[in-house]
Amino acid sequence: MKKPFVTLEQLQEIVKKYPTPFHLYDEKGIRENARRLKQAFAWNKEFKEYFAVKATPNPIIMKILKEEGCGADCSSLTELMLADAIGLRGSEIMFSSNVTPLEDFQLAHKLNAIINFDDITHIDFFYRHIGDMPETVCCRYNPGGDFKISNEIMDTPGEAKYGFTRQQLTEGFKQLQRLGVKHFGLHAFLASNTKTNDYYPVLAEILFKTAVELNRETGAHIAFINLSGGIGIPYHPDEEPVDIMAVGEGVRQVYEKVLVPAGMGDVAIYTELGRFMLGPYGCLVATAIHKKEIYKNYIGLDACAANLMRPTMYGAYHHITVMGKENEPCDHKYDITGGLCENNDKFAIDRFLPKIEVGDLILIHDTGAHGFSMGYNYNGKLRSAEILLREDGSTQLIRRAETPVDYFATLDVTGLFK
Ligand SMILES: *Cc1c(COP(=O)(O)O)cnc(C)c1O
Repeated sequence: MKKPFVTLEQLQEIVKKYPTPFHLYDEKGIRENARRLKQAFAWNKEFKEYFAVKATPNPIIMKILKEEGCGADCSSLTELMLADAIGLRGSEIMFSSNVTPLEDFQLAHKLNAIINFDDITHIDFFYRHIGDMPETVCCRYNPGGDFKISNEIMDTPGEAKYGFTRQQLTEGFKQLQRLGVKHFGLHAFLASNTKTNDYYPVLAEILFKTAVELNRETGAHIAFINLSGGIGIPYHPDEEPVDIMAVGEGVRQVYEKVLVPAGMGDVAIYTELGRFMLGPYGCLVATAIHKKEIYKNYIGLDACAANLMRPTMYGAYHHITVMGKENEPCDHKYDITGGLCENNDKFAIDRFLPKIEVGDLILIHDTGAHGFSMGYNYNGKLRSAEILLREDGSTQLIRRAETPVDYFATLDVTGLFK
């Protein structure tokens, strides 16, 4: 059974001050998890997690992670601005973008962030416009074909828009060396939301072997390997969480097998996890506002897909708890819906839950990553608040809810409203 990190009594206090819907984050859970990750890779002296800002782009959350030793992985101008705003500096910022606009590269360079090139043509694009090349850069590798773990296809890099081919890596490293680069990183992101402890070790083996080859071919000094994101979380109560200690140990064994014998035992390991860092430590809290019985039974919430897009977009499962009814039998079958004029605006379809009444608080689990951040304004729906549940049990509003004025703010309304 999935247990919320907040009690009904706590929520009843919170909603007196902040109306639903809102995303709630668990500071204690975030910190404990970040410490476990650090411990899992403690064998690597220079290990660093660069939190993938796109998962939860809130500076208060980023600051908590900074206090736990994390940097930031940014992919856009505004994400770079957030990293700068919370005081991350230079190599504490990884810039892993694609289809990168010039102004994004310019800011990344100004901040001395580590540039992770997505494409070989970006090297020339960067150098031509910026007229300078940092001493340390990273390149993103796409091995093509299918990515398999013990013969199971995990994803198809050959269909993905990201990264350099193997041949382009060699060529790109040589170009970068001519432009004065001294230290190199190698990055790849080959599968998302993986549930096996083997993902990082298998990925690490590919990257480590490639790093050794590149070192032999070009003489380049490989300073770090960036394993990127992709470690999953158990959205469904039947799924097992990844054992992060086993993951760290698996990567260590490959490191000992491949890098150490090649004389590359000083390579740092970096990660860019988003979902794993935040997913389980956030939830969407909503109120049941309507009950509808036609050919099926519907519960309508004051939240909709604009607050959490994953079920609508990917058919993703998110567990639901009807607060205060945790011990009642799940003997009622419902579709749990939002109010968008889109029939796929459903948080759950044919879900067995306890009997729900209008006014019940409905908690949707695991929205801490790729939840609020994927929100949008379709149907004129407004983005919700974000609230932090602090370690001492108090709450902090870390983003207020949008108002109609926010929604209209980018229009020229001169003379429109009387
Ligand atoms: C999205 C993304 C991540 C984080 O992915 P998760 O699945 O949330 O761990 C890391 N790096 C890059 C380049 C990404 O695009």
